[in-house]
Amino acid sequence: MTMEFTDRLTRVEPSATLAISALATELENDGVDVVDLSVGEPDFPTPENIVEAGKDAMDAGHTGYTTSAGIIDLREAISEKLADDGLDHGPEEIIVTPGAKQALYEIIQALISDGDEVALLDPAWVSYEAMVKMAGGDLTRVDLSETDFQLEPALDDLEAAVSDETELLIVNSPSNPTGAVYSDAALEGVRDLAVEHDITVISDEIYKEITYGVEPTSLGTLEGMADRTITVNGFSKAYSMTGWRLGYFAGPEDLINQAGKLHSHSVSSAVNFVQHAGLEALETEDPVAEMVDAFEDRRDLVINLLEEHDIDVAEPEGAFYMMVPVDDDDQAWCEGALEDAHVATVPGSAFGTPGYARISYAASEERLEEGIERLADEGYL
Ligand code: PLP
Repeated sequence: MTMEFTDRLTRVEPSATLAISALATELENDGVDVVDLSVGEPDFPTPENIVEAGKDAMDAGHTGYTTSAGIIDLREAISEKLADDGLDHGPEEIIVTPGAKQALYEIIQALISDGDEVALLDPAWVSYEAMVKMAGGDLTRVDLSETDFQLEPALDDLEAAVSDETELLIVNSPSNPTGAVYSDAALEGVRDLAVEHDITVISDEIYKEITYGVEPTSLGTLEGMADRTITVNGFSKAYSMTGWRLGYFAGPEDLINQAGKLHSHSVSSAVNFVQHAGLEALETEDPVAEMVDAFEDRRDLVINLLEEHDIDVAEPEGAFYMMVPVDDDDQAWCEGALEDAHVATVPGSAFGTPGYARISYAASEERLEEGIERLADEGYL
């Protein structure tokens, strides 16, 4: 029997990150100075030339509907960007969406039905679980917390978790919430299993442009992966454009067309002038190199500060998050840290990995220092 959509929704929790942010905002409204280390957005403005391109596009009248898949100039520019990453997708294999989240939602809704099995690597970004449940799918989870969040040493566990029943595997490298970048050997292991069991893979590469001394490989470039990988990316993180809502997905035409139907009958397209701003973003060389340098300095700062309290973390190689080991009851730890130290973090259990809190270092060095000091003073470190 198929499950009603309303029943599926009852299986979904509200976003833990948004719930913590809401609590933090409540405290702030009461006049409390909260150090918010829970947010998943760069604390840098969108580069000026991109803002100007958006305004110019609006002035030029780019305010009507666009083709559902997105304006051809942007899809061609995305196609070139993907080619630089070694991926071969023409504009007809690319759909522009209002954010990468929408891209993921459309793909999962299009590919997954009642009882289909989807494998996740834990800790995993909060919305994957919710999206799979909304589609009626069942989850198989592989815990990477015993291997410093690296996939390569956990490939045996992944092998044990997947089978011919597995419809979809979601890989997110660099990862939210760990900042881990998976090695080529790990991705080759994924490829071998995907080919053996005929599994479609979503490669969520939203943090690909934010890395520290490593270059993540795109899964779709591996031999045997081109016709089974859907690559997701967007402009929110790499260009500090979270509120503009611009993302995309690219993959083999049959899979893209399925998801594209959902796209055209629901959101229609991304905002017209925003797509023009995205075109400018892709044409700008290293628009946010300064931001990535700042994140790297902050990562090092936080690691050093935590070391002073005898806390070792797995060093992130990308994105702007790290998982800090805390009490087994991470939910209580995070609530207490917010109430007592006025520091907002996100419980690891929200990502499928209890015993950790996720810290976002998309905050100034002063605020990071203040946050760690408060946590230590209140006995949380
Ligand atoms: N994928 C991951 C792993 C994320 O962390 C996020 C946002 O936090 C997204 C996708 C969605 O990004 P957006 O919808 O802003 O493009």
